[in-house]
Amino acid sequence: MEGRVITSEFAGALLETLAQRGIVMGPVTGADGVVRLRPVTSWLQLSAGALPRIPLKKVVFPSGRDIWRWVDGGYSAVDGKDASPAALVGIAPCDLYGLAYLDRVFAEDERYLRRRQELVLVAAVCQPDDSCSCPPRTEFPPCDLFLGTDTVWALSEVGESLLSTLSPFIRETQPALSLEAMVAPHGTPLPESSEDLFRNSAQNPVWQREAQRCFSCGACSAVCPTCYCYDAIDTALPDGSVTRSLAWDNCFFREHGLVAGGYDFRAGRKARLMFRFEHKRLGFGALRGIDSCVGCGRCLRACPVGISVSAIAEELAKGEG
Ligand code: SF4
Ligand code: SF4
Repeated sequence: MEGRVITSEFAGALLETLAQRGIVMGPVTGADGVVRLRPVTSWLQLSAGALPRIPLKKVVFPSGRDIWRWVDGGYSAVDGKDASPAALVGIAPCDLYGLAYLDRVFAEDERYLRRRQELVLVAAVCQPDDSCSCPPRTEFPPCDLFLGTDTVWALSEVGESLLSTLSPFIRETQPALSLEAMVAPHGTPLPESSEDLFRNSAQNPVWQREAQRCFSCGACSAVCPTCYCYDAIDTALPDGSVTRSLAWDNCFFREHGLVAGGYDFRAGRKARLMFRFEHKRLGFGALRGIDSCVGCGRCLRACPVGISVSAIAEELAKGEG
């Protein structure tokens, strides 16, 4: 993939160009040291390549979004698209791979697709740490531009069009500059998981041991870029109107498996821990067999007792149990 060498003004000019489309957001480190996705107007505000505590699902699949209202005897759809940003910049590759997974999950959700189609994505070189365990990749992350220190790569038609607009800030084309190096894996990738390995692991002591430590706080799932459980909540008002909204749910919460009659089909923390692991490594439904863990390490950083998907995967790979 051909890279283009940029001038020092390129990043600022890119931000100005994107701002003409609407709100531009990116990872910003707050005074409390926490990285969050925030609106940005200058490249200096950005912590490019850092992982925001709550990943891109905050933007493409926000919690609490209203989807329809029943008013005066009729339904009307609610989009709530106005607050969504036009562009995300400085995004680490693993968050974009996570977004690619959500794209498959919500492939038939019109609201999701509208948000996605209008969203311009600019990737940056990541800032890895000891919690990372990204798998090797055969494809570039889904984005429009990948911005390195002094090089930019276009990965879509939108990206090419942006580079045409910004041509005064491009010095030369550099076929030798490799994008592959920018998305090289960090940390030790998780060992492969399989249906058999997982199904035969119920007696493996790792589940009981880790479940005894787990608080069921749900932090790991809340911060995971590929966790997307949600609940539908209907709010009825005295005037007869009803609004349905979708709010993030969490498979670690006891109510998640509770159904009518009081039966809990996922009672106990061991069952919930196994469920989340199964979802991450093996997938469900049409996406069965696809590993959705992008190795971002957020769950480990967020977990108050340091429960690690990698450590569980390694123990299962040893085949004890
Ligand atoms: S399971 Fe953990 S490491 Fe894997 S994608 Fe989710 S938060 Fe990241
Ligand atoms: S963050 Fe840790 S303690 Fe909390 S639910 Fe997840 S594994 Fe359990």
